[in-house]
Amino acid sequence: MIYDVVVVGSGFSAIATVCNLVELLPASASIAIVGDDPGFGRGTAYRTELYLHRLNVPAGRMSLYPDRPDNFVDWLRQHKRPLGAGDFASRQDYGLYIRDCLAELLRHKKPRCRVDFIKAKATGCVERYGTMIGFLLDNGNEIAGRNIVLCLGVGNAKLPIDLSQLPPRGLAHIVTNPWRLSWLRRVEATDRVCILGSGLTMIDQVLALSAHGFTGKVTVLSRRGLAPLDHIKAPKPATEIDVATLPTRMSALLHALRRESSASGDWRSIMDGLRPQTQALWLRLPEMERRRFLRHALPWWNIHRHRVAPDVFRRFDVMLRSGQVSIRAGYLLDVEELNGLTLRYRRRGRSDVSSIEADWIVNCTGMERAGISHSPLLREMQRQGLIEADPLNLGIIVDAQSRIPRSTGSGPDIYAVGALTAGQFWEITAVPDIRVQARKVGQAIAGTVE
Ligand SMILES: Cc1cc2nc3c(=O)[nH]c(=O)nc-3n(C[C@H](O)[C@H](O)[C@H](O)COP(=O)(O)OP(=O)(O)OC[C@H]3O[C@@H](n4cnc5c(N)ncnc54)[C@H](O)[C@@H]3O)c2cc1C
Repeated sequence: MIYDVVVVGSGFSAIATVCNLVELLPASASIAIVGDDPGFGRGTAYRTELYLHRLNVPAGRMSLYPDRPDNFVDWLRQHKRPLGAGDFASRQDYGLYIRDCLAELLRHKKPRCRVDFIKAKATGCVERYGTMIGFLLDNGNEIAGRNIVLCLGVGNAKLPIDLSQLPPRGLAHIVTNPWRLSWLRRVEATDRVCILGSGLTMIDQVLALSAHGFTGKVTVLSRRGLAPLDHIKAPKPATEIDVATLPTRMSALLHALRRESSASGDWRSIMDGLRPQTQALWLRLPEMERRRFLRHALPWWNIHRHRVAPDVFRRFDVMLRSGQVSIRAGYLLDVEELNGLTLRYRRRGRSDVSSIEADWIVNCTGMERAGISHSPLLREMQRQGLIEADPLNLGIIVDAQSRIPRSTGSGPDIYAVGALTAGQFWEITAVPDIRVQARKVGQAIAGTVE
């Protein structure tokens, strides 16, 4: 079957794109959405099995539609959730909200274009007649589109060491995909757990363990040992920042932001002021400075920028202060299995080797910056010259309209939405940014489909 638009992926980016396309395309148009996600629209973030896993962005900024900012808060009210715009809703609820947005649109918009949901993984592709791309699906079928939107998200980060020498008994105690919470059922209440990575996923896992009655020790190991900071209940208003006046050398830029922070007395208001302008700031940075940022400043950026809800932070902090959770900074060297798992690591700033004894290792080294390597489909598209990795290997090269530039004047239009476009936009992994991008891509495609 040939479609006007094929959307590959089925997480938030895909659903946001499809909602915009359904609103904007004529009734004669057709869309296919291809995804292997068991809960269409939820993706990794919003299909969590635990209600206690919360959004890290206040509800008032999580509407699917940038021009209807109250949409999610209204949904929460209609569903009898006692939360306001400044509160942090459950990620499970957010997954239901996304599903409802799409379902309502499909039910009530009349007439509307055709939308086919295809539960499959796109494993390969081929350019057809110079005007469309055919996708080979793992169910044996092929579909083709005149416009393509890649919404593949980010892959799970691989463990930073080779475990091929570990016996099966040891491998069975290594949790490579922490978002499948079934591993919690196998953990004894007093086991020793070692979590690799100290970001938001680590906090999710610690809270999930606690909710399962876990009373054992959790040791967290990450390169710098930095854990996310918290949102506060009544934040100061965001400071107005004119990014055009900020220096573009990384050292001078960080100095200027620190100065602003101490002048305002609240670094959060500086981060909040910077947030809607981060894309503009990123665009101004020369490639060398972007590299410097990724090499030196990224862990600090992450803990200040990706904060946790106040009460989630409080719960985590109690476990930290009681000593049930401890965080170590170091570089993992290897893992051995001998009546349990022994992790050897070099402590940050030291040359001697320390170790951690654990019954479980959980990989929370975070979302891999999309890149191309995590996806066989992207690797194949790269091989065929349809896409190109961006110079920083964050994702793929797109232009300011999120479209993959073409060397020739003709051929199908290929767009990307979400983290794959981080090389161009940097700040493009959260809903407030992706929803705007999805709208623009929808508008660009609608301008070409009759
Ligand atoms: C745990 C977690 C919590 C988060 N919390 C928040 C939050 O509170 N607020 C916020 O704004 N953002 C949050 N985020 C950021 C989040 O990444 C975005 O909000 C958004 O969910 C990204 O959606 P996506 O569709 O781009 O990617 P994903 O959700 O990763 O979806 C991509 C989908 O594409 C599918 N896919 C991949 N390859 C193929 C293929 N070849 N064929 C078919 N399908 C394929 C995958 O299976 C997947 O389902 C969170 C992220 C995580 C991981």
